[in-house]
Amino acid sequence: MLSTMQDGQLSLANLLKHGSRVHATSQVTTWTDQGPRRETYADLGRNAARLANALRSLGITGDQRVGTFMWNNAEHLAAYFAIPAMGAVLHTLNIRLFPEQLTFVANHAEDQVVLVDGSLVPLLAKQLPEMKTVRHVIVANGDPATLQAPSGVEVHSYDALLAAQPDTFDWPEVDERSAAAMCYTSGTTGDPKGVVYSHRSIWLHSMQVCMTDSMQLSPADKALVIVPMFHAMSWGMPYAAMMVGASLIMPDRFLQPKPLAQILASEKPTFAGAVPTIWQGLLQQLEAEPQDISHLREVVVGGSACPPALMHTFEERYGVPILHAWGMTETSPLGSVARPPAGATGEEAWQYRYTQGRFPASVRARLIDDDGNELPWDNESVGELEVAGPWIAGGYHGGADPEKFHDGWLRTGDVGKISPDGYLTLTDRAKDVIKSGGEWISSVDLENTVMSHPAVAEAAVIGVPDEKWDERPLVAVVVREGQSVTAEELREFLSDKVAKWQLPEHWTFIDEVPKTSVGKFDKKRLRAFHSQGKLD
Ligand code: ADP
Repeated sequence: MLSTMQDGQLSLANLLKHGSRVHATSQVTTWTDQGPRRETYADLGRNAARLANALRSLGITGDQRVGTFMWNNAEHLAAYFAIPAMGAVLHTLNIRLFPEQLTFVANHAEDQVVLVDGSLVPLLAKQLPEMKTVRHVIVANGDPATLQAPSGVEVHSYDALLAAQPDTFDWPEVDERSAAAMCYTSGTTGDPKGVVYSHRSIWLHSMQVCMTDSMQLSPADKALVIVPMFHAMSWGMPYAAMMVGASLIMPDRFLQPKPLAQILASEKPTFAGAVPTIWQGLLQQLEAEPQDISHLREVVVGGSACPPALMHTFEERYGVPILHAWGMTETSPLGSVARPPAGATGEEAWQYRYTQGRFPASVRARLIDDDGNELPWDNESVGELEVAGPWIAGGYHGGADPEKFHDGWLRTGDVGKISPDGYLTLTDRAKDVIKSGGEWISSVDLENTVMSHPAVAEAAVIGVPDEKWDERPLVAVVVREGQSVTAEELREFLSDKVAKWQLPEHWTFIDEVPKTSVGKFDKKRLRAFHSQGKLD
């Protein structure tokens, strides 16, 4: 029996029409070197229409791909809506990819047009001759004359191009299952893989972002979007904000601790999202120059495990709760969010908040052991996490890496356990687990424990080869400015906190932990440094 309900498309054109009308006065603030630049959601709707008209005039039709090589700003936001809403596909290019990876993804996605920020023109210019399908480059927030394009590529000024266009567009009715946007994983192994989101997956994911067990975005919020728009769609914040009318604060290229602190002071956001290393940096800034940040009702932290010490400092010293969440580019990215269950308070609540979080109704999860058996949710059995659901990738663009998917499930490469009430605790990434004498040591647990020492700013742990035990942990420590600590003192500190056989004997002190293109500890580079003898 069929239902008697209508079947409206969950499309980004409908989302844009809704947000720019119903939430017309909500604001987009972009930080510039002159301070804040403001526009409303109504302006955003008009600019998205102008951009769609401009792209049409450049020949963009059907589901052709339009790349963005941009910071988080109002122009990038207009592209986030205009490109999918006109039926084309938004491809967010990661500005920090290695050159050969950048050309690989632009060619693989067959980008026809690239929208670039003026400050990023020199970076793009180097790779442009290798980008075989690009025919037009649009320069926003900068002078197009600075770009020497290869023959066959036309360069345009964003402002001039849009000024000539009408501020309405006849948005087409697209099938909600068609491609809306694509993002490549940052490719820690092999070539980057393209994840292609649909209008429907983005819409459903946006609803989840706003739910009370998730980020709780609402019209009362001013959300500071620090996580780059080229990293897993800014964790879904731009689309979710449009859905509910939350105002957005875009930091553009001002992502260092000092300007971030300035943005906080000027704009007083109520919510923000970023990887742990950003918050560690901000913490050091706040320690050097204290300021009130209690206007933040909450901040979401994910992308890598959030050290409990960071959560405690933010909450106890600055009155800002950290909400821990887990996800991947392949999961749109919201996979689980660590809100404690109703009634949990005090230490019990903290134990829940340290976890990677609870699965929402639309994300199915299971744990699989080495022999392919499903493990129980008893908060003890440890296996590889697999997930499935309407905003989880079922494959990569062009069918790359098919072994990541099986029977409708995504193999996450993350290892952990799940409690009977659906809270995930990750012990490691499969490739980062340290195998010592047949037992597993969680690099994340060791890192978190070392980082709870007051003199430690950052600590990254990798497995290094060992004749007797196969592998042993090596701890790379960054000491807080103005403090000092020795390996012996840290071992002593750890001695009543981790099992004796796990106590690391290898320590090294470094100035900075190398970071990946999205700001996570780059353990691949740390391992390379170690094998080149640079960590002794
Ligand atoms: P990349 O694979 O390049 O790092 P993603 O941003 O898609 O790109 O990373 C997803 C991975 O990040 C997850 O598979 C997981 O290993 C890690 N991750 C994300 N959130 C968390 C978290 N809260 N705790 C631990 N690991 C996390």
